[in-house]
Amino acid sequence: MCVSRLLTSALVGLAGLLLWGCSTGPTYTAQPEPWRAQEERTCLVSGHVREQPWLHTRSTLGGNSSYCGAMQPFEMAGAADGRVHMRPAALLRCNMIPSVERWIRQYVEPEARRHYGVPLAELKVAASYACRPRNNQWGGKLSEHGHANALDISAFILADGRTITVKQGWWGEPRDRSFLRAVHAGACREFTTILGPLADAFHRDHFHLDLARHGRSGREVVCW
Ligand SMILES: [Zn+2]
Repeated sequence: MCVSRLLTSALVGLAGLLLWGCSTGPTYTAQPEPWRAQEERTCLVSGHVREQPWLHTRSTLGGNSSYCGAMQPFEMAGAADGRVHMRPAALLRCNMIPSVERWIRQYVEPEARRHYGVPLAELKVAASYACRPRNNQWGGKLSEHGHANALDISAFILADGRTITVKQGWWGEPRDRSFLRAVHAGACREFTTILGPLADAFHRDHFHLDLARHGRSGREVVCW
């Protein structure tokens, strides 16, 4: 059985708690962040996120501590009125859904048509919810993925079957480079953290998109 434990602050200072769960999982630091629940509640009561054939609520996400997960998580298997599939389905908190929707509708779909002349069919989801430290680095801060507040996309699949991967396309042929840079730039208008191949080696094969709070306003954007 997977049981959370705490190392006392004597080991890690007053800034946070070092947690570990299953013997196989890496540890992470975390601390209470009341804004997360407030933000999620506001999203849930707004009525902007409703069940659709491609968007379902989930009762739980699992995880090895109360820091992980969301009050009312969603399983997102598609977007843009179901035109675009997301595979495998992403497990996300309420706040992420409208941002993912807008990014796909306003940037990914139009850029796919502009660059390739065919509709976008699918986004390949490399990761969504996972109760783990950032970049899986032992002892690191709990990842936004642990809050179901992050989405990793590794490839874009068009209606004609063509697949543009971040790994090969980012430094690949000019059209793929241009398409990927355009959707990356669009993501920087919808999310607060956007990490791609220019960020570091961890992100050479996917775009990491999340809604973490940065800076005093909480809305500063980290776009790499
Ligand atoms: Zn990520």
